[in-house]
Amino acid sequence: MKALVWHGTTDVRCDSVPDPEIEDGRDAIIKVTSCAICGSDLHLYDHFMPGMKSGDILGHETMGEVVEVGRDNKALKVGDRIVVPFTITCGQCEQCRRGNFSVCERTNRNKTLGDAAFGHTTAGLFGYTHLTGGYSGGQAEYLRVPFADSTHIKVPDGISDEKLLFLSDILPTGWQGAVQCDIQPTDTVVVWGCGPVGQMAIRSAILLGAKRVIAIDRVPERLSMAEAGGAEVLDYHEESNIVGRLNDMTDGKGPEKCIDAVGLEAHATGAIDAIYDRAEQAMLMATDRIHVLRQMIMVCRPAGVLSVPGVYGGIADKFPIGALMNKGLTVRTGQTHVKRWSDDLLRRIEQGQLDPSFVITHTVGLEDGPEMYRTFRDKQDGCIKVVIKP
Ligand code: NAD
Ligand code: ZN
Ligand code: ZN
Repeated sequence: MKALVWHGTTDVRCDSVPDPEIEDGRDAIIKVTSCAICGSDLHLYDHFMPGMKSGDILGHETMGEVVEVGRDNKALKVGDRIVVPFTITCGQCEQCRRGNFSVCERTNRNKTLGDAAFGHTTAGLFGYTHLTGGYSGGQAEYLRVPFADSTHIKVPDGISDEKLLFLSDILPTGWQGAVQCDIQPTDTVVVWGCGPVGQMAIRSAILLGAKRVIAIDRVPERLSMAEAGGAEVLDYHEESNIVGRLNDMTDGKGPEKCIDAVGLEAHATGAIDAIYDRAEQAMLMATDRIHVLRQMIMVCRPAGVLSVPGVYGGIADKFPIGALMNKGLTVRTGQTHVKRWSDDLLRRIEQGQLDPSFVITHTVGLEDGPEMYRTFRDKQDGCIKVVIKP
């Protein structure tokens, strides 16, 4: 089959690879009908996340039709239409039973690597480094879904792939980012980053009743999309002092809730802390650039909440722990517990309350995948979200 394969920094190719096979009784194989490139894939493309190996198949936003089912899998049958959550879940361990699916205790088959990197293993993820299991991803014609009797969202016919695909990741990720803010009707919520995750977080925060949502980015079409979703917008290239501006917009008190939808590759122009981050990254003294996190800590109203769906991979420096502690801020973060939210979000899609397809700007075949990684990373051609039809 054809698949998008990681070969090294900014080197993704559309290769011919062996078809996947059932390896365990709980598995299923799907024929992929749609998949997408995520901002998290860009951290692999730029090689800021450790643990990739040349030859790894990428992709963790995938849906399709079940074409083969393992003998112990009683939950699926050939012909079922499923969306595949990016977090692989056993459905049985203590964390899965509590709904903490992204920290499933059993699905990372490289548990010792996970333990070493993070103190404890987290769930296996599709196409996302050997620290989280080294599982082949779904930017391919076929995908083996391990633990498929638990790791699936069954979806009805009659709704387009485009409306359903993002149940795999960015829709529940934006939703969880907003839910974690415990939004009150009096709250101002600020969302850093207007990529696909930021867009979903903006709409979720509004749906969850925020008084006001302010979104920050520098890419004009992303800011326009945020505005169309109901946010007031700030261009961080034009605002030299984002913290000061946000304080001005909130009577000097700062926003109650802050969402980081940027992650470890935060950009900044001229800020001293950002220059430090770049230098330390280059000297391998720190892995992550935390400019946005620092702004969030400094501007958040005391006793407020920082919600961090943005991905971080390792360690960072110049973390304002004093401000975080003395202001009594709450930090909530994590890879998304996709299955915790999917019944509710699917119902909202079925009822027409949510249509996440608005974010799609490009639809291409697999062979155009490598070029689209670059286009998406460089935000060229108005690119906000790429869907691939294998
Ligand atoms: P993206 O790269 O398309 O979007 C990031 C946006 O942040 C860009 O539009 C960029 O211009 C903007 N940005 C950069 N620096 C900024 C700054 N200083 N201030 C404000 N905006 C800034 O990616 P995406 O798909 O939207 O994903 C966003 C983040 O969410 C990534 O880190 C991704 O890995 C993460 N993510 C997490 C989960 C999860 O489970 N927690 C799931 C999916 C994605
Ligand atoms: Zn993702
Ligand atoms: Zn589990």
